[in-house]
Amino acid sequence: MSRNFLSQLTGSFAMPARENPTVAMIEAAYQHHGLDWRYINCEVHPDDLANAVLGARAMGWAGFNCSLPHKVAVIKHLDGLGESAKVIGAVNCAVRRDGTYIGENTDGKGFLQSLLTKINPSGKSAVIFGAGGAARACAVEMALSGLSSILVVNRDPYRGQELVDLINKATMTKAQYISWMGDYSIPDDVDIVVNATSIGLFPAVTARVAINVESLRSSLVVADIIPNPPRTRFVKEATARGCQVIDGLGMLVNQGVISIKYWTGFDVDPAVMRKTVEDIFGV
Ligand code: NDP
Repeated sequence: MSRNFLSQLTGSFAMPARENPTVAMIEAAYQHHGLDWRYINCEVHPDDLANAVLGARAMGWAGFNCSLPHKVAVIKHLDGLGESAKVIGAVNCAVRRDGTYIGENTDGKGFLQSLLTKINPSGKSAVIFGAGGAARACAVEMALSGLSSILVVNRDPYRGQELVDLINKATMTKAQYISWMGDYSIPDDVDIVVNATSIGLFPAVTARVAINVESLRSSLVVADIIPNPPRTRFVKEATARGCQVIDGLGMLVNQGVISIKYWTGFDVDPAVMRKTVEDIFGV
């Protein structure tokens, strides 16, 4: 009888890599669904990125995630970009298609997927805190799915305005930059509030997103993208105000689900992946 001992390979290139729980989450899905696939978490120095991608090509990997600091640098080593990755200008997931590697951005798509459990952003107004890579991914995906307007609240005016200009140029959404000074009050006509800064990430768990908490109305959908800890101070404040709240595990899990779909073609169960990361973060 002929047996197949050749597993399909996927993985991640990042530095540092040891604290990234994605490998546990993805392998849990592979095992749960009986898929003979592997996910290898690799620490790759920026100087070695080109060789790492060549290695993946040589070994026939079905694809790989890229995390910091490779999300932009990897683009020149790939053969093309998906639509939103092109607009965002960053790739967190390379996918082999017909022998070529195409860069996708599943961060924003994962965020959108978790947002859709509470609200469809089409025709709605949002406030996003932050203008870094993650904010860019979340804002662009909301804009591409028909968001009406977005206020980008950021400390650094250059980064804030850069994201605003990108959204106004590449999408139909109306974007405006707001300088972040003191506690920001959420305007009355806003539907969605997103913390896409790194405020609250372990170990700085007591750090606060500078907002006027009283301005969080119960009709708001409030999302935090910090995965560790999932119950950030911001999540707790929004929950206490009666808002509909989405934590950072939603984005983490859903970007994984979408990456697996790209690589394997299978729809995997997000609950298995969420349980794995909840156990890791002690939720
Ligand atoms: P960047 O370094 O590119 O951007 C960080 C952003 O946070 C900037 O806008 C920065 O503002 C802002 N910021 C940081 N500290 C403060 C502060 N004290 N006050 C005000 N603003 C602050 O990081 P990324 O965008 O790549 O990542 C942001 C976070 O998103 C990370 O913590 C990461 O863990 C999380 N993330 C979560 C994912 C998930 O799946 N849940 C996926 C990807 C990222 P300024 O421009 O003024 O410096």
